[in-house]
Amino acid sequence: RIVSAVTTTPQEDAIERALRPKRLAEYVGQQKIREQLEIFIHAAKNRQEALDHVLLFGPPGLGKTTLAHIIAAEMGVNLRQTSGPVLERAGDLAALLTNLEPHDVLFIDEIHRLSPVVEEILYPALEDYQIDIMIGEGPAARSVKLDLPPFTLVGATTRAGMLTNPLRDRFGINARLEFYTPEELGFIVSRSAGLLGVAIEDEGALEIARRARGTPRIANRLLRRCRDYAEVKADGRITKLVADAALSMLDVDHLGLDLMDRKMLGAMLEKFGGGPVGLDNLAAAIGEAPDTIEDVLEPYLIQQGYLQRTPRGRVATPVMWRHFGLVQPSSGAP
Ligand code: ADP
Repeated sequence: RIVSAVTTTPQEDAIERALRPKRLAEYVGQQKIREQLEIFIHAAKNRQEALDHVLLFGPPGLGKTTLAHIIAAEMGVNLRQTSGPVLERAGDLAALLTNLEPHDVLFIDEIHRLSPVVEEILYPALEDYQIDIMIGEGPAARSVKLDLPPFTLVGATTRAGMLTNPLRDRFGINARLEFYTPEELGFIVSRSAGLLGVAIEDEGALEIARRARGTPRIANRLLRRCRDYAEVKADGRITKLVADAALSMLDVDHLGLDLMDRKMLGAMLEKFGGGPVGLDNLAAAIGEAPDTIEDVLEPYLIQQGYLQRTPRGRVATPVMWRHFGLVQPSSGAP
């Protein structure tokens, strides 16, 4: 899926790494978060302390991993990266924690998917820089306390609501990432084009930006597809016309909606009369996992006002009926 906000291949991961801004000053948008982090990082460095633990939340592709790397770079420390589902046993986390150097950043992606036993180990580590590990089994088992170097946990999640309260309470810094404006994304596209050595006009960058669902990862991916198109069908330069033709060929419409979005929105309107429809029913109707709808498809559609999440289910808004050129049945109609 071209506008998917999650990376799919190792090649794409490698390109993403190359396009990642390395310092806070290069990080586009998210102004409030940048301002806050600048102050907190400066203060921690002045006091020669580890930065307080940071929780980053927001939909995929908005720059959480990038920010974690930037925090480590600005602090001048190493970053170790792992993710919630990878840490299966308490020992996995203990091994990571005991190998940290003072003030290092431990980045845990998808932190809402930590198993309870691993989370249990994390609490004292975050609070007192200590862990209790069990050695041996049965009656001979005993618990050993280990001191850790002061470190910073940066946790990323697409769903702050799925974090347990005790875990959430242990983060001193909370940052919610917002979707980017077309202007901010245009800037990111131009910067990436520069790094990739692609010729692009401002209007071309803006056309890509407008159709990238507020998401840098998608903007960068659309840029690469537009580059292919420009090289084969034009003179290699991405103009507004070239971008428009390339994106139309990819079935990404003027609002950045792709086939998958249109399938979901279409099902809502045609099969469920605009809703309310429950998440599971909607997922079954389009053959997608409910999690994918909640994490990937729906946040941008809700932010753009196409869709509302109500206690009774998802409801289509008048904007969405208009976008599909359909007439909204008056209330009470089937
Ligand atoms: P997440 O961890 O939230 O899924 P990433 O940090 O992996 O997102 O970002 C995806 C891609 O988008 C990265 O390759 C990076 O180049 C780009 N990106 C994200 N945020 C920004 C930003 N604020 N400025 C410039 N590029 C960004």
